Amino acid sequence: FSSADAGTTPMSLPEAFTQRLEQIVPRERFGNVLSTFDLPKQVTFRVNPVQTTPEALEAELTASAIVFERIEWGVLQGVYRIDPADKLRLTQTEAFYKGHFYIQNLSSMIAPVLLAPEPEETVLDLAAAPGGKTLILASMMQNTGWLSAVEPSRERFFRMCDNLKSQGVTNAHTYMTDGRSVGKKCPLMFDRILLDAPCSSEARFKSFDEKSTMFWTLHKVKETSKLQRRLLLSAFDALKPGGKLLYSTCSFSPEENESPLQHLLERHGEHLKTLPLVLPFDNVQKPLTRWGKEIFDERIQNAVRILPTDTIDGFFICLLEKT
Ligand code: SAM
Repeated sequence: FSSADAGTTPMSLPEAFTQRLEQIVPRERFGNVLSTFDLPKQVTFRVNPVQTTPEALEAELTASAIVFERIEWGVLQGVYRIDPADKLRLTQTEAFYKGHFYIQNLSSMIAPVLLAPEPEETVLDLAAAPGGKTLILASMMQNTGWLSAVEPSRERFFRMCDNLKSQGVTNAHTYMTDGRSVGKKCPLMFDRILLDAPCSSEARFKSFDEKSTMFWTLHKVKETSKLQRRLLLSAFDALKPGGKLLYSTCSFSPEENESPLQHLLERHGEHLKTLPLVLPFDNVQKPLTRWGKEIFDERIQNAVRILPTDTIDGFFICLLEKT
């Protein structure tokens, strides 16, 4: 963390957002969290194990004069960090064009790893484009079994298809459709479901980039919350008994995190449990127990709020099992 004055609100972050953030993040961490919006994040990427190995990638990058630092993670091999100033050069290397690595934030990498799909399983990525997490799911499944990737936005759908192809994914079946309809179309079909939900992307805000915040309003957060609730219900219907569902967002708002889970548990709580999560970093906080008048189910306490650092984006993750 870089140091920052906890009383300072960067000019281009919406005031309503920072006021809410202050109520969400623990008081002693708020200043540090706020300061992470002021700097470009370090660039992280991971090897594509479908196409190459960490050793071969490192040799390729060294030959292209890219200076990288290996991140020792245990849970995921072949993860690296470079200076943001070198990002353009990284995307001009042959290794990039060959799909030998994928640029992605660490908190995004962890979601599919925690879902832990296995070879030959039937897996659904319910909000998949541009496909960064689908790629990890496919590699963990060793390109076997059945991986459905759903994305309704036409432009994003085709970008995802290109990404999956260039990274050598062969077990994915892509669908340009609304995730809300999948539960009714494919009931009880999947062993594991990733719902990396559309969200207000608050964790991607940058105080020096007005474009990152210009569409944010509280009204939008609440609208997004309604969509997330319906997607979660759809995911529940599509999940096999004994199957696992990982819900994630890159937002801080409880309306997009604890609240949709609360809604799911109110409807199907007798068939659901949440699972404790172990993360490879300690910049985490417990979920909220209440927000406004809403008091959250105790099971939601197994979810994790990842707090942002100079490298890691803020993130929310909850792993559920259908009993
Ligand atoms: N998982 C992706 C990755 O790691 O590359 C990022 C997913 S992004 C957070 C959320 C995606 O949900 C967006 O691509 C958005 O277009 C899509 N989306 C929006 N509405 C949706 C809906 N009704 N059903 C399914 N996906 C939806």
